[in-house]
Amino acid sequence: MIPIFSASVSNANFDFLSPIQRVLQSHWYVLGEEVKNFEREFAAYIGVADCVSLANGTDALELALRAVGVKKNDKVVAVANAGFYGSTAIHAVGAVPVYVDVDSASLNMSSVSLAQALKHDPKAVIVTHLYGQMANIVELVSLAREAGVVVIEDCAQAHGATRDGRRAGSFGDIGCFSFYPTKNLGALGDGGAIVTNNPAVANSVRTLRQYGWAQKYHVETPFGRNSRLDEMQAAILRDKLPLLDGWNEYRRRIAVKYNLAFSGLPLVLPVSVDDDYVAHLYVIRVDSRETFRSHMQSLGVATDVHYPLPDHLQPAYPNAKTIGKLSNTESACDAVVSLPCFPGLSDQDVNQVISAVQSFFN
Ligand SMILES: *Cc1c(COP(=O)(O)O)cnc(C)c1O
Repeated sequence: MIPIFSASVSNANFDFLSPIQRVLQSHWYVLGEEVKNFEREFAAYIGVADCVSLANGTDALELALRAVGVKKNDKVVAVANAGFYGSTAIHAVGAVPVYVDVDSASLNMSSVSLAQALKHDPKAVIVTHLYGQMANIVELVSLAREAGVVVIEDCAQAHGATRDGRRAGSFGDIGCFSFYPTKNLGALGDGGAIVTNNPAVANSVRTLRQYGWAQKYHVETPFGRNSRLDEMQAAILRDKLPLLDGWNEYRRRIAVKYNLAFSGLPLVLPVSVDDDYVAHLYVIRVDSRETFRSHMQSLGVATDVHYPLPDHLQPAYPNAKTIGKLSNTESACDAVVSLPCFPGLSDQDVNQVISAVQSFFN
C-alpha cells in the first residue's frame, strides 16, 4: 500500500541522533540555547524580526489571538474548510467565529466574502494557507488593514511558501506554524511557533507561553499557560530547517507530475505548482469520491479527505455564524480527496498513483 504520508520514508536520511546528543550533553531541556537559536534561525528564514516557539500549532493560533487583543465575544473571521484548528483557537478564547466562503479555484479565503465580513466589525481575521497553497494574501491583508482589523496567518501547512519573494507568515500581523510530524517542517512530536515583526506581540506571546509571568512567579498577564517547545524538538528543527526548501521542491515536483498526468481528466486540480505552493497536501476534486477512493484502495493507493465536514456544520458548535451561504466551501468538502505526496516518495510509487487515477476514468 502506498501511504498518504510516511515518516520513515520522509525522515530516511535525516540524522536524529546528533541533535538529540547535543541536548543530552547540555543537560538543559527547556528554554535553552537550542530554542533561542531555532527562534532566531526560523525568524530569519521567514524574513521577520522575531519568532516565539510553542508547544503546538493550535496554541500558536490561540496565543496569537490573545496577543493581538481578541477577547470574549469578539468576532474573528475564518474559513470553514481548514480542519477546525482556527475554530478551536477562536472558541478557546471565547470569541465568535464568523465564517466566510472560499475562492472556488484556490479553496482559500475569498476577498469578496472577507470584504462583506469586515462590515460586521470583527477584531481579527485568520487567513489559512490551505494545503500549502498561499491565499491571496496581499489583497486580504490590504482589505483588513483598511478596516483596522488584525491579520493572523495560519501557515501550519505552508512552511516556506513564497509570493513575490516573501514567505507565508511575513504578510500579516502574526504568522502561526505547527511542527507536527507530518507537516513540511516536522518535529519528533508536537511543536509550534508564531512569527511577527511586532515586538509587543512577540513579548505578549513569550509571556503567555510561560504562565503569564512578567518575571519568575509574578503573573502580570491573564490566561497564561505552559506552552513551550522542548530543547530536543528545537534541536531537531534547527537541523531540519536547512533541508526544508529541498523537501518542498521534492513535494512540488510530484505535484507537477500529477498535474500534467491528470490535465485531461474530469478532475479539479491544484491551481498552482509554483513557489506559492509547497504541496503539503496534493488535493484533487472528484464527483464520485467514495467510488474513486475504493478504486484507489483496490490498486494499493491510500487516499484521505482534508476535510470532510466544514467547521460551520460541526455538531459541537451548532448555529455557527456565516456570511451568506458557503457554497464553495460545502461543495469542496464533498469532493476533495488527497493523494500521496511527500519527500522520498519514489518515482515508481508516483507512477503507480498516476496509473491508478487514470484507470478510474478509462
Ligand atoms: C496542523 C494544523 C494546525 C494545528 O497544529 P497542531 O500542532 O496539530 O496543533 C493548525 N492549522 C492547520 C491549517 C493545520 O494543518
